Amino acid sequence: MLNVPSQSFPAPRSQQRVASGGRSKVPLKQGRSLMDWIRLTKSGKDLTGLKGRLIEVTEEELKKHNKKDDCWICIRGFVYNVSPYMEYHPGGEDELMRAAGSDGTELFDQVHRWVNYESMLKECLVGRMAIKPAVLKDYREEENKVLNGMLPKSQVTDTLAKEGPSYPSYDWFQTNSLVTIAIYTKQKDINLDSIIVDHQDDSFRAETIIKDFLYLIHIGLSHEVQEDFSVRVVESVGKIEIVLKKKENTSWDFLGHPLENHNSLIPRKDAEDTYMKNSYIRKNINQRRETFIFTFSPNVVGLYYRKCQLISKENVTHDTRLFCLMLPPSTHLQVPIGQHVYLKLPITGTEIVKPYTPVSGSLLSEFKEPVLPNNKYIYFLIKIYHTGLFTPELDRLQIGDFVSVSSPEGNFKISKFQELEDLFLLAAGTGFTPMVKILNYALTDIPSLRKVKLMFFNKTEDDIIWRSQLEKLAFKDKRLDVEFVLSAPVSEWNGKQGHISPALLSEFLKRNLDKSKVLVCICGPVPFTEQGVRLLQDLNFSKNEIHSFTA
Ligand code: FAD
Ligand code: NAP
Repeated sequence: MLNVPSQSFPAPRSQQRVASGGRSKVPLKQGRSLMDWIRLTKSGKDLTGLKGRLIEVTEEELKKHNKKDDCWICIRGFVYNVSPYMEYHPGGEDELMRAAGSDGTELFDQVHRWVNYESMLKECLVGRMAIKPAVLKDYREEENKVLNGMLPKSQVTDTLAKEGPSYPSYDWFQTNSLVTIAIYTKQKDINLDSIIVDHQDDSFRAETIIKDFLYLIHIGLSHEVQEDFSVRVVESVGKIEIVLKKKENTSWDFLGHPLENHNSLIPRKDAEDTYMKNSYIRKNINQRRETFIFTFSPNVVGLYYRKCQLISKENVTHDTRLFCLMLPPSTHLQVPIGQHVYLKLPITGTEIVKPYTPVSGSLLSEFKEPVLPNNKYIYFLIKIYHTGLFTPELDRLQIGDFVSVSSPEGNFKISKFQELEDLFLLAAGTGFTPMVKILNYALTDIPSLRKVKLMFFNKTEDDIIWRSQLEKLAFKDKRLDVEFVLSAPVSEWNGKQGHISPALLSEFLKRNLDKSKVLVCICGPVPFTEQGVRLLQDLNFSKNEIHSFTA
């Protein structure tokens, strides 16, 4: 819905389209770009019609504001008058009108959970939704008691045990100097990528990804702890232990107080069938109300950001740079293969957010990361568009400056690699970024793998990212073949040329054996990816054999 890559970007025929999920963008009128919107919000004009007053909005009141020139929408409990924004919305007025006079959170999350609407629409804020009596009141009282140590431990465990085998739970225990928070996921495929921990100011937050759900622990700790902590996973039983170091060696009577959405199980945005999950949750809510907050839509929790420091910036091609960001010491986060994060920067006072896919620092194993424990660095290959909105600002950052980084998103599943024999990668421009970790993983961790073939589309030789690393890697590992295809080569180029086409693909995508297990990954400008998927289907690759990267 509210869509940051504003202006009419990408222009209807532009090859830089970043629209997600096949949504169409509408051409915006002259003077209706994102920068124009930012200017309007700073002009002091009364955009809500309420002269700066904030009101409490009832459901009945919200419903009344359902016309283009009087359109209120609720997102996560806050109501915005979006009429002034209509003409600036890249998804068009009709898309906004789908949520007119109602709670648009779910619709918003389906398209752009990451868009920073709070900042974009702050001048359109009408007020909060009037709060209804809390259905989960009993639970919250219970939770308070547990966290405050008022229930004896045995009772806590009993309460959790009632949840049944497939429901996560948590517990805590302490020694003189340590506090351990244990999360029982009751799933076996849990690893260090599955848990994201942030401890900032008074808030301790642990998000655990459990299949298509996110289990959130969110607590204001009762005592101070040191910045760094450790995270361990006992895979065989699906237990995660977060070990905090006390600042003072005193005994804690209670862990802390619950903060927003503490102990919630939330469907993830990327999950394939949100409706099914919601009905699954609905089915289970009655028997479990006393101990859990279940969210009815995947929207109660927005993406969480933490500030990361720019450690280094290195030119890779004439317009693409390798950025290295360092996570805060009080964060544990590993971006899984094939997933992206959002970077957020204030641009002329408005927070702008764009998605980027972390890469490894290099394709070659002799690359040495700076010595710091626990994957504290995140690398990005980012192309700077000099006429773009976000990347020039990113490029202006100095070493030591900060940029906010979200938790990861994406629907790529590592299980796709199981028993894989042939892996084909089709990348165009920075669409190469998801292929970096895939390549590293495939060549080191898939014993069944026989062949990896990368076809990399670029305009000119100068645009090829990490060309010499790719060539070295292909030389070193005979399972890898790399083919460069240029759309605007110099006359001396004797490699492949042109755009993605049936002729190029049918020759390139040869299975090793008739029945070999194959995966084709494709990423690049949206029209490139869409065309590629159509061609792959024409070549009889099944849906399960194709993974296309989009937002
Ligand atoms: P924009 O302002 O979006 O502009 C980009 C280009 O379009 C510029 O040339 C600009 O002049 C032109 N343009 C803008 N508006 C118009 C208009 N109205 N008409 C015509 N042309 C226009 N990129 C990477 O470099 N690395 C990554 O790892 C990466 N990962 C991604 C992951 C995902 C899931 C997705 C969806 C995208 C990813 N991208 C990545 C792309 C990235 O998110 C941004 O789209 C990109 O960096 C451009 O942002 P920008 O704000 O600088 O440019
Ligand atoms: P680029 O340099 O403009 O293009 C790379 C190559 O793709 C060029 O040869 C180009 O040919 C060709 N190409 C462009 N559009 C095409 C189309 N419609 N059909 C066939 N070939 C086409 O690419 P870029 O600037 O790096 O952009 C990369 C894109 O990948 C961005 O849109 C970015 O959002 C996307 N991306 C997505 C993800 C993700 O996970 N979803 C991750 C990273 C990047 P021409 O010379 O004719 O232009």
